Amino acid sequence: MITLQQCEQWDQADELAGFKARFDLPPNTIYLDGNSLGAMPRHAMERAQQVIAQEWRTDLINSWNKAGWWTLPVRLGDQMSSLIGAGQGETIVSDSTSANLFKVLAAAVNLQKERHPQKKVILAERDSFPTDLYIIEGFNAFFGKDYRLELIDEPADLKTAINDETAVVVLSHVNYRTGYLHDMQATNRLAHEHHALVIWDLCHSAGALPIELKASGSDFAIGCTYKYLNAGPGAPALLWVNPELLDKISQPLSGWWGHKHPFAMSPSYEAASGIERFLCGTQPIVSLSLVACGVDVFLQTDLQAVRRKSLALTDLFIRLVEQECAEFGLRLITPRDHHFRGSHVSFAHEQGYAVVQALIARGVIGDYREPEVMRFGITPLYLSFVDIWQAVQHLKAVLTDREWDKPAYKTRSKVT
Ligand SMILES: *Cc1c(COP(=O)(O)O)cnc(C)c1O
Repeated sequence: MITLQQCEQWDQADELAGFKARFDLPPNTIYLDGNSLGAMPRHAMERAQQVIAQEWRTDLINSWNKAGWWTLPVRLGDQMSSLIGAGQGETIVSDSTSANLFKVLAAAVNLQKERHPQKKVILAERDSFPTDLYIIEGFNAFFGKDYRLELIDEPADLKTAINDETAVVVLSHVNYRTGYLHDMQATNRLAHEHHALVIWDLCHSAGALPIELKASGSDFAIGCTYKYLNAGPGAPALLWVNPELLDKISQPLSGWWGHKHPFAMSPSYEAASGIERFLCGTQPIVSLSLVACGVDVFLQTDLQAVRRKSLALTDLFIRLVEQECAEFGLRLITPRDHHFRGSHVSFAHEQGYAVVQALIARGVIGDYREPEVMRFGITPLYLSFVDIWQAVQHLKAVLTDREWDKPAYKTRSKVT
């Protein structure tokens, strides 16, 4: 039996408790959606003011040099490299995850066309975040007509699905719905045994757990900065390429930012030698400038400690739901095994959508994903053990009193 007092004791012993003050959260809110839109780092307000008032209003065009706007995608990539196990000059922050997937997919397919032209399968999971599948479909329709998208239903199917036909594997490191965490190193090894390349989507793992892109022998990675990394709504995404592949590949969105000498204004394209070749065009500088605020906070933490607390909080959430809400038929769809668990917990319930709306009305913000899935994101830097206790008490009240059973909670909004 877990008690409130026990949760208070865990909070007192929490080595990361001080980080909550680095974020500016509204009062009376337990925010369990930092896996969808991370909370605002306190410093972001001041930084936004500086970018708009000083860099834009006062310094105007000078800021491309003076404020380093032009080099921001690479500088940010370098800054966050320790969070994803990358070296310097291997990562950029630019464009969206969807657009970045298109770029690295094209690069990977093109490389395989040269190395292993008989390989014609792009392998992904049916339960991928849909944009990943849509981008692969779109790519195939325009550029890879002889390629076939094959979908597996279970992570365990990878073992047999990766074979000598597989050109590229596209996987979410952590599944957006179930929270399933792939073993990056084992998957890379399996793919490489069959000469397949792997693209990792880090949207639900960057900032949530330690990642070792290079040490695990990964090929390509992309991922959001606006989720666990707290970069702000729609902030540009990361893109990483293993340096051993970089000079062998190119990408088709060959805009001027990826040119070797962009200001030579040459009529023909020549790709930059470094990771800059994955840039395309002018970036949303205001948004891009705020990416550093979240990353700054993470650089003062130890991701191993973040991971330890994340597992402690997700364990607590699961155990409390089982202790307090046992009679309501919630079905845990997140792996119990730490080795396969990311940093959110999902329960399925037939009234999942309405339950989430009733929770939001109580200030407990989670979200809903089809079908029937209530998703609770656990962000160790701004959640406490008592927050989890209280969130589960709210959930219990919503279910006990059937608070969810109101028409207003059953009407779907555009964003769920
Ligand atoms: C959130 C998310 C995306 C979002 O892509 P955008 O291009 O930023 O809209 C992509 N993939 C996964 C796995 C996600 O969770």
